Amino acid sequence: MTLMNSAELRQKFLDFFEKNGHAVIPSASLIPKDSTVLFTTAGMQPLIPFLLGEKHPEGKRLVNIQKCFRSNDIDEVGDDTHNTFFQMLGNWSLGDYWKKESIGWSFEFLTKELEIPLERLAVSCFIGDENAPKDEESAEIWASLGVKKERIAFLPKEDNWWGPVGESGPCGPDTEIFYWKATSIPVPEKYDPADKNWVEIWNNVFLQYVKTADGKYVLAEQKNVDTGMGFERTLAILNGFENIYETDLFVSVMQLFPGETDERKKRIIADHSRACVFLISDGVIPSNKDQGYVLRRLLRRMMVHMRGIEHDILLPIKKSIEIYKGVYVLDEEKIVAVVKEEAEKFEKTLAGGLKAIEKIDVINGKEAFLLYETYGFPLEVLEEMREVANREQFFEELKKHQHPFS
Ligand code: ATP
Ligand code: MG
Repeated sequence: MTLMNSAELRQKFLDFFEKNGHAVIPSASLIPKDSTVLFTTAGMQPLIPFLLGEKHPEGKRLVNIQKCFRSNDIDEVGDDTHNTFFQMLGNWSLGDYWKKESIGWSFEFLTKELEIPLERLAVSCFIGDENAPKDEESAEIWASLGVKKERIAFLPKEDNWWGPVGESGPCGPDTEIFYWKATSIPVPEKYDPADKNWVEIWNNVFLQYVKTADGKYVLAEQKNVDTGMGFERTLAILNGFENIYETDLFVSVMQLFPGETDERKKRIIADHSRACVFLISDGVIPSNKDQGYVLRRLLRRMMVHMRGIEHDILLPIKKSIEIYKGVYVLDEEKIVAVVKEEAEKFEKTLAGGLKAIEKIDVINGKEAFLLYETYGFPLEVLEEMREVANREQFFEELKKHQHPFS
């Protein structure tokens, strides 16, 4: 395998697809122009109009590194491979090439350019259902490239179907590529989708369908390819790390807390500080609704975790900015000012809030809401400290008080 740092991987990916006729396009904002969803969650999202047939000024083959944010993955943060904010390496065919080229290039990039041993890879393909047939074609392409039968799984829609984003739009079967990340356990012959040591690294989606507003799957007029590879995960793999926090994207933030032994805590701080930097950079300000509320939750959760470890919340924020300064335009002064203001606000109520829950073990949803109203504790922050029974009550109260929540 080729040892490389984040800058080298970025460049290698873009160069490879450029060499194969793709135009490099910039990353879109984390905040979509179309307001049906709060965040850009995948590289394909800003390209939807072009996937639906609009002509892209840069042509039919595109490549980029897209900033993504998945609030749904917030509970996974702390594991080896999931972030809230992450970067997705993607290449697209807008009515141009199809499965053979797409799979062929993914294979070539991973095994030749990055020199990942085929022995550590496995793939999955769509098994078929009432809306779309089994994807034998993709499986045959993989087999022709040398992937063993035992390493090709056919799985249902939950696993091997992508999209649409929201209720309707482009979607289709996908083929996913997995890497055996465990360094101390030999790679099993057979791919087992339930074994967490197989980490998904790349997803090639064949956008052959459009889901209509009334729930039907119709064949798309233009067949597109959309791929997404996790930048953080791939970087970890290339360097022989089992988790993303050892890579140069995080390690200097993790090292800010040498005395802290709670690994999960440090990971949450590292993830959230980076996410806050990028959200603020794309114009989000802490508030009680929509994207602003997500940012507020991240900042406050980070502050609670930092108590007793490091007093200065700006430390990991500034370190995260430093890591990305050469790659993205980041307004340090503005980011620091926004974080500082929110931190000062929360600092005022945090101690009182902690005191209020001191003698309580279990809190019901209604009480959790009161604590949120009075002390600004986001629900998940509270849940990390106390058991919250009846959490639906929290959301009912929130609704009653007309706080839009997402
Ligand atoms: P997983 O099953 O691991 O959550 P996914 O099926 O949600 O992955 P996709 O939606 O196919 O992932 O996204 C494409 C690629 O982006 C994945 O193959 C993975 O490498 C990367 N990726 C997805 N979610 C995250 C995340 N939360 N943090 C970092 N990388 C991610
Ligand atoms: Mg996921």
